[in-house]
Amino acid sequence: MMENIFRCPVCRQPLNDNGKSLVCSNRHSFDKASQGYVHLLTSNKMNSKLPGDSREMVAARTAFLSLGFYHPFREGLCRIVCDNLKGKDHPVILDAGCGEGYYTSELYRTLSQCCADPVVCGFDISKFAVKAAARDKNLSLSVASCFDIPMADSSVDALTAVFSPIVPEEFARVVKPGGIMVLAVASPRHLMGLKQLLYDTPYENERRDTDYEGFRFESRTEILTEAFLKDNQSIKNLFAMTPYFWKTSVEGSARLAAAQSLYTELGFDLLLYRRI
Ligand SMILES: [Zn+2]
Repeated sequence: MMENIFRCPVCRQPLNDNGKSLVCSNRHSFDKASQGYVHLLTSNKMNSKLPGDSREMVAARTAFLSLGFYHPFREGLCRIVCDNLKGKDHPVILDAGCGEGYYTSELYRTLSQCCADPVVCGFDISKFAVKAAARDKNLSLSVASCFDIPMADSSVDALTAVFSPIVPEEFARVVKPGGIMVLAVASPRHLMGLKQLLYDTPYENERRDTDYEGFRFESRTEILTEAFLKDNQSIKNLFAMTPYFWKTSVEGSARLAAAQSLYTELGFDLLLYRRI
């Protein structure tokens, strides 16, 4: 039996993979889905029956990402991780809140060129997102939460979190001393064009405090780009992957429904930290 990269979410013991399921020494057992991922979110930690992004939201995001407007962000993220792990043997990379694996798959592809046998794993609280990510058989994937990461202490060389909940104490627990954490957050004018369509007085995103206990802040890389969307479906798909999806007025929703084109600035801040 092979030891899995993930740990038991109940007792944190190692999990052995017997082909069909993952089992710890305390006999907690987790079935593998036919797509290869494993569900490690225990029912008492789920706030709802189907937490996270719905099937429709995952489909909308997948469709929008396939247009390529976010490629510069993905490239920038992979470059930072690669520059820091170059030449390492079997580095472990964890994509926390990996969604449908847009960044995770590219991390695997890029790291395979600069490291020996990278282990790239990811988790998301949405089963539908993980199922979509599991199309890439190079990845180790589970359904889990950022608040209770099913990984051993000090087991991760690089943790990435792209617009995921930031849980500093859990991230510090799993990242090895000397390892890195890369957070992707919205830069001030990210999605300004979309916000101008939705709101009467759109505000710039605030740049927040960047200190997290257990980590030393090393650098901020701002990546700026833009998108010009030429059909209503693409505009709706972009909208569905933003937090504005949950807080838009009737008037804003009506303008969105009528919009046939949209120009918007896009910007990510990639924040690099090193575990002390
Ligand atoms: Zn257990």
